[in-house]
Amino acid sequence: MKYDVAIVGNGIIGLSIAYNLTKKHNNIRIAVVAPKSRLSGATNAAGGMISCFGELTHSSLKTELGNKKFDTCYKALRKWDDHINELNRGFSDKLEINKGTYVINNSKSGIVDHENIYAMIAALNDFNEDYSRIDPFTIPGFKPVEDARAIEAYYLPNEGFINPTLILDRLLDILSANDNVDIIDDAVIKSDKNASGFSIELKSNASITADQLLLCAGSYTQSIIENSDFGINTVPIFAGLGQAVLIEKVINVPHLIRTPNRSGACGLHILPYNDNSLYVGASNNVYVNPSDLSEVGIIHFLLECTVEQLHQDFYKAKMQKIMVGNRPASLDGLPLIGETSVKGLWVISGTYRDGFHQSPIISEEVANRILGIDTSTDLSIFSPERKPIEHYTVEESIKEATKHYMSGAYERAMKLPKAGWDDFISGMIEDKIRELYNKIGVNFALNPDIVLMFQFSNNQDALISYFQEYFKNFENNDNLEKMDLSA
Ligand SMILES: Cc1cc2nc3c(=O)[nH]c(=O)nc-3n(C[C@H](O)[C@H](O)[C@H](O)COP(=O)(O)OP(=O)(O)OC[C@H]3O[C@@H](n4cnc5c(N)ncnc54)[C@H](O)[C@@H]3O)c2cc1C
Repeated sequence: MKYDVAIVGNGIIGLSIAYNLTKKHNNIRIAVVAPKSRLSGATNAAGGMISCFGELTHSSLKTELGNKKFDTCYKALRKWDDHINELNRGFSDKLEINKGTYVINNSKSGIVDHENIYAMIAALNDFNEDYSRIDPFTIPGFKPVEDARAIEAYYLPNEGFINPTLILDRLLDILSANDNVDIIDDAVIKSDKNASGFSIELKSNASITADQLLLCAGSYTQSIIENSDFGINTVPIFAGLGQAVLIEKVINVPHLIRTPNRSGACGLHILPYNDNSLYVGASNNVYVNPSDLSEVGIIHFLLECTVEQLHQDFYKAKMQKIMVGNRPASLDGLPLIGETSVKGLWVISGTYRDGFHQSPIISEEVANRILGIDTSTDLSIFSPERKPIEHYTVEESIKEATKHYMSGAYERAMKLPKAGWDDFISGMIEDKIRELYNKIGVNFALNPDIVLMFQFSNNQDALISYFQEYFKNFENNDNLEKMDLSA
């Protein structure tokens, strides 16, 4: 069987693109190939925050690409209502977004929380977006221990969440009913391009062919690219391992409550996931490869934060499920969206922390491009083969990563003696990071979560070699020349 389009991946991105293609074209033959279990994909583990302003960090809008990404997030925020209405057409059980988000600022983490919340407020004002400052003690379902009480809180009426598994199920229902779509429960090992299109080798030893191949396998996309012989040099996609927990609904939490993004993760948040469960999330540690294992230390930390910073009464809630998912985390933290230099080969991944939120826009834009439909949105900047984007200078990156280290330590109850110890410890961390930069030996400013990746790696030397190998591609680029930070 030859398909017009083969989509690799059944997370929110793959299924949403398939949906948009069928919506815009009656006869297009599509295969969606992916394991039914979804492995440890990101979408399954996400709480489903539809968060645009709540997701901002103080560096989000510093670069052109950062602004472009925010553009997509902003458009997505405006599109979700129509998207849900469309998905509800013909179904009696109606999907509904739970609107309203409380963003809290407490002092349990470091300065990163403060910077991010003020970046959020500045953007809310710039965009004339509705929000109000509220008394944190009026937030329903919020009762932190006294030394973790929030200093301030904001209510964002237009942001909220919807359980991602409901959207995945609905998309699958719609696609399964379409005779032009085959949902294939298998995994792609690799693919080659030949005269008759893409030949796609599956784990079951079967193969399929297609004119266009869309790699939407989240953090697993990287291994498919590496196994195949396309000769493309895409921005590496790592795995931002995220862990979250479903707990018994011992108290009523009617709406999403969250902190801003903090220490390399998407903030502490809680939301009513279904009738019986509250979702608390989420951690983020970046590794080279995806994993399906949860870690004692992370779950311990997450639950401690939940009981202390969100509601004391959760200490008696039953634990129901640990959720593990791998965010597609690109080297520069920005998505890879577009056709590669191999005609017909597309990569749509790297959506990292908010791919669920962005999915209605990304999928529509990709479908338009595949079908040759005119669109005013310029996504060329997210080209999968771009030179990775720097959000900082190297010195700024060192300082920023240090702040994230310190925030993480404060969140874990670090208490330092007064009289300059904060600067002293920060200085030691900065030196360590400088050492790391010298070992890597290229002048490219890494994001804090990528710097932290070296801390979590079991094999730092191998990781350093990986980065050195990758940056060789840019050897002749002035911007990435060798450097010495020892002075
Ligand atoms: C804990 C956690 C919380 C999050 N919270 C939010 C949130 O609140 N809001 C938000 O917007 N975003 C959130 N995110 C991020 C969001 O989930 C991702 O950006 C988004 O889901 C990525 O979607 P995807 O389809 O690209 O990847 P995935 O969801 O990872 O899907 C990839 C799919 O590819 C398939 N696959 C893997 N290997 C192969 C193969 N070899 N062949 C074929 N198929 C394969 C898998 O079955 C998988 O389902 C969160 C992520 C995590 C982990």
